[in-house]
Amino acid sequence: MIGELSRRQFLRTAGAGVAGTTLGAMGFGGAEQAMAQAVRPFKLARTTETRNICPYCSVACGVILYSLGDRSKNTHASLLHVEGDPDHPTNRGTLCPKGAALLDFVHADTRLKYPMHRKPGSDKFERVTWDFALDRIARLMKDDRDKNFQTTSKDGVTVNRWTSVGFLAASATTNETGTLTYKVIRSLGVLPFDNQARV
Ligand code: SF4
Repeated sequence: MIGELSRRQFLRTAGAGVAGTTLGAMGFGGAEQAMAQAVRPFKLARTTETRNICPYCSVACGVILYSLGDRSKNTHASLLHVEGDPDHPTNRGTLCPKGAALLDFVHADTRLKYPMHRKPGSDKFERVTWDFALDRIARLMKDDRDKNFQTTSKDGVTVNRWTSVGFLAASATTNETGTLTYKVIRSLGVLPFDNQARV
């Protein structure tokens, strides 16, 4: 049974149990009711926990997001609290000051939440759909690759490379995502490929 509990579930359960036992041992009658009163207004008690990764640096610490409301509406307005994930092998619950301030980052007015497009000649960005953004990126990449892909070097050596486009990946991903990203980009012939983890 213990093996099925995550570290934070265990700590939460053990903490409540120890507190209740201690109150009882000290002679306070109705310890269970007292604990129930203490837990009821705890602001995180009714929240949903979502595990995620801090987006800032290559350490990629695990975080837990505590939110209220319907997440299917894809809004972060209900995010109440962020803390380090004690079950995450990288940071074991700790966060540096940047990660500890993620709540402000999520709620910042300047945070980009959807694709934006600036039309040629325009001086402003406009919100577009993901379908539009992905179609546009694919179109521009295809056109550029058709125009600039090199099969051989000037010495006649086979190179199959595309050097007029670069790709910057993110460190806050899984190994599987990283492997797939590498394969897709390299299979297109893209040579300029780096990762935010090195920044
Ligand atoms: S919490 Fe700090 S160290 Fe961890 S990933 Fe975020 S910025 Fe990097």
